[in-house]
Amino acid sequence: MMKTFFKAILNLFKKPITTQYPAEHTYIPDDYRGMIGFDENLCIWCRRCEMVCPPGAIVFSQDMEGKQTYHFSRAVCIYCGECVRACPKEGAIYQTAEPAKYALHEENINNTWNKLFDESLESRAAYSAEKKRLAAEKAAAAKKDADKK
Ligand code: SF4
Ligand code: SF4
Repeated sequence: MMKTFFKAILNLFKKPITTQYPAEHTYIPDDYRGMIGFDENLCIWCRRCEMVCPPGAIVFSQDMEGKQTYHFSRAVCIYCGECVRACPKEGAIYQTAEPAKYALHEENINNTWNKLFDESLESRAAYSAEKKRLAAEKAAAAKKDADKK
């Protein structure tokens, strides 16, 4: 009983071990797994990062010329680093020690991401379908030419 009492008295004079966040920043270790960075100049657009991402925080959209665009959601990411490990091109995708910014209510972050994710997959499907259509058209024209001869 007395021991606990003295311990409590001593604790009154000790520095608190808690951090007064957000006024004071929390300690971030050097190997902290933070924000995912992307360098489109190094990317070879293989989409392996998208394929291995457990929660689906990366998606590539594609325009009708075949150009792909990388999209990433800081709210969906679990900062596991799988995308970085799977990438065959060093530096194309990388993990920084920068903590992710908190999500704002007005960003409607999950719904916005889900919509973008679905639209990106649809854009790729549209590009593939158009590519197939053009190939079939080309083959039909070649056959017509061959039949004429
Ligand atoms: S760190 Fe993990 S969760 Fe985040 S984008 Fe990469 S693979 Fe996906
Ligand atoms: S795995 Fe690397 S090279 Fe492939 S699409 Fe992702 S970032 Fe680009």
